[in-house]
Formats: sequence, structure tokens, C-alpha cells
Amino acid sequence: MRHDRLWSMAGMSLVLAKLNEITLPKIIKDNGGTPLLASGGKLTARFPNRDKAVEARDKLWAGVAKRLPMLEFQVNREPIEAASLTEAKEKGLVEELSAAKRAFRGSALSFNPHLARCVECGDYPAHTELADEGGHLCTFCQTAKDAAFSLNTHMIGRTPDSEATTIERVYQDYLSGFENLSRKPRIPLNFDDLFAGRGKERRQSERERMAVWFSDINGLGGKVGVWLQQDEDDIPGFFSKVSKIFIATVVKALNATFPQKELEDHTFLPFRIIVAGGDDLWLVMDEEYGLTFAQAYHKAIADKVRGQTADSPLSVAWLEKNADPKQKKNFTEYSFGGALVVTSSHTSFRAVHHLAENLVKETKEKSGRRANALTWRFMGDDQSLTETKLAFDKPLFLSESASGPDLESYLKAIKNEAAEKLSGSHRQQVARLLFEHQADPAAFEYALKRLAGTGLPKKDFDFLLLDPLFRKEGILALDRIATFLELKELAAGGKRS
Ligand SMILES: [Zn+2]
Repeated sequence: MRHDRLWSMAGMSLVLAKLNEITLPKIIKDNGGTPLLASGGKLTARFPNRDKAVEARDKLWAGVAKRLPMLEFQVNREPIEAASLTEAKEKGLVEELSAAKRAFRGSALSFNPHLARCVECGDYPAHTELADEGGHLCTFCQTAKDAAFSLNTHMIGRTPDSEATTIERVYQDYLSGFENLSRKPRIPLNFDDLFAGRGKERRQSERERMAVWFSDINGLGGKVGVWLQQDEDDIPGFFSKVSKIFIATVVKALNATFPQKELEDHTFLPFRIIVAGGDDLWLVMDEEYGLTFAQAYHKAIADKVRGQTADSPLSVAWLEKNADPKQKKNFTEYSFGGALVVTSSHTSFRAVHHLAENLVKETKEKSGRRANALTWRFMGDDQSLTETKLAFDKPLFLSESASGPDLESYLKAIKNEAAEKLSGSHRQQVARLLFEHQADPAAFEYALKRLAGTGLPKKDFDFLLLDPLFRKEGILALDRIATFLELKELAAGGKRS
């Protein structure tokens, strides 16, 4: 599917979250069942007997088909009869779904030339005519559009917590302080909205780029495995606790990054949540907030993790104590692997998503999932150093890294007075030298010293030669200088010097 517009993705995510977190669990409860897991696109429930389960399955099926006739999903064909979840797993609770997922080949509907094509996704027969821009939308995209447009700052807070999805609860808590503002910014519907309302401050020449945040909580699957082995009456409580922590940390990070008092004159919020729930978080924002959000989310998680006592199902101590000895894993603290993609607001989101998925995977692998870690990429940009073959020092841990510099050490170097003076053209000169001498740090150092002879005051580059951050065993570390240059660009966030 194309689904490139912000409302389309954010709206579809809302619809799916509502189905997954609210509507389907309600059907389960109405049919005498207990939802065990209902987030991140997964739904597991237990029923007192087989008949109840079959009845509920048919109603769930109808519920999905009625709301989203084209949705691809997999379901266990027959309820699994078992005395416990562990037994259900042994009887193939998970395997059947995994197999179905691998075998699934698209939706059943084939292309019919007599039906209008949807202008958004291009695939499905379209029914609803768009008054403003022409063309038709399919039911799927129309549903997404309705959901995306229905979420506005004035509506939020009117849904009781039990009926609100994770996404709605994040907005709700974040916006709770907005009551004092004379005018509430709206939730953006298109990528360009992220930049609206601050036109006065931003010069025409400045590029409008967005930062897209993707993160995934490390090792949650292994933890879920342990929770599912516990007393079944306790299981919903574990998930509700994790969900509360997820919401609290995201809200704290949003409040620190987008303080409400600074948004009074904004038409739109400078960010929109696309996915929040399970272990995933996707946000789009004005690029100037990207690194600030990364640090704020890191801090919010660090604060929460410090607050976890040994009786919390998220603590490593609890997990080690309660895990089945046969399935004991190396549990890690609650932390994320993240990626920031900085790109034009007109780049295909599908391409952004594809890149980000790989970056998050790489971050998680290279960081060993030990602590909050981040990588980043400037996408489709001539200025981008990443698109070249230069070596970089990333992903980086956000702080307290024992294995080398972390994000904090780079950001400290960026705030140093001499680094602040490094202009765009200085940056390009250093980049040029990096390309020329990437295999030879001594030649790079010599050339950097000689730059003084080109009329630029030598002291402008001195900090690159003097700061121990840029040296490994006395030798200039060119990967760290390249990383520094990119982070300086990222930290400048669209404000060209
Ligand atoms: Zn469509």
C-alpha cells in the first residue's frame, strides 16, 4: 500500500489500535472470556470452555470484517483446549499463527478495472468521492481518514481510560496541561502541518525537514514469555503495568520536548504519533526536536527504570526469579533501540519506514540490547555524509557507555564554544578532508592543520585536534569526527548557520 499521507498512516494505526485494544477485548469479555494479551497487533484470550471460545471467535471474526473488510489477519482455526497457557503453547498456540503468517499471500480481492481506484492506496475499489481534491477513497482509507480527523485536541479527554487506546491515552495525558492555553494547537493531519504556525520564525531559505522517530523496546518478547508462564489471573495486570510505564515515559518525553507553554501560538502540534503500543513508538516531528526527544525519552526511561523495585515484573531481578529455569534468558533493563530519520516532508513514508526498520534492527544488534541506543540517518539529501562510504561511530548509547563515547559526550563537544563557531562552510571543508584522507588519519591531521593557510583562522579547527573525544590511543579517530559533524547538523535542526 502507498499510505503516504500522515492522516492515512496515523488514522489507520488508530483504527487498528481501537480494534486490538478496545473493541475485540470487549467482545471477548461479553462472551465470558478473559483477554490475556491485547496490544501490538496481538490478541490472546482464554475461555471457560470450547463452545464459548468458538462463539467468541466467530463474533471477533465478524467484528473485524465489519470494521475493516480488507484487513489481513491470522487466526487459530480452532480454539486450543488446554489447562494452562504453557500447555496451549505446547499444543501449537503460537506455531499455527507463525505458519499462517508466512503462508499468507495478500488479500483475496483481485483488481477489477470497472471499479475506481483509491487515490491514497491505489489498490482497492474506491467508493467515496473526495470533494476537495477529486478522486475516490476506498473504505479502508476512508476509515483511516475519519479516524485521523476525529482525533483533535478538543475531543481528547472525553473518552474514559478504559475505552481509550494507548495512542489516545498518550495524547490525553500530554494535553492535560493545555486547558490553561487560550488556544490549543491541533493535531497535524499532513506532514506540512508540522511546520505550520511558526512561519514567522522560520526563514524561507531554511529547509523544512522532518525527523521521524522509530523505537522498539528491547527484549520485551522474552519478558512476555515469562509473564505468560505466571498465574493466569496475574497476567492482565502485568500487561497493564507495562502499558502504564510505556505511556508515562512517552508522555514525560513529549512534555520535556514540546513544553505546552511554548506552543501557545502554534496552529498545530509540531509532532504526531503514528504508532504507540506494544513495544513500538513512531513519531513524526519537525527536525529541530529530534535529538531533544531522544534525550528526553532516554531520561524518562532511566528515571522509571530506577524506580522499578525487585517486585516489579519489569525488573531484571523479578524476571530472573520467576522465569522457568529451562528458558532462562539474559534479561536486560527496560530500554529502547531507536532510529531518527531526517528527511524532506515529501519523501515517501514507505521508504522512510523501510530504512528505519533496518536501522532499529541494527541499533538493537550492535548495542546488544543492553541500554538505550540510537542511530540516525539523513535521507535523500545531497548534504548527507551517511550516504557516503565514510566510517561512523554509531549507533551510540545515550549515556553511561563503558565501551566508548556516548551521545552525551558528542553533544557536550558540540556545545563547546569553538564547536559552536564551526560554520556550515567550515563543516564542509572538514568533510572534504575526511573524504580525501579517510584511510590515513595522519594525513588528515596534517591537512587540517594546513587549513589555517587558506585564510581561515586555524583556531577554529583546534578543538578537533585537541579534544580527547576525537582520538583513539593518540591517533585521530576519523569515524568520530564524521559522527560529530553529522550530530552537529542534527543538533542544529534546520537552523542553518
Ligand atoms: Zn485506499
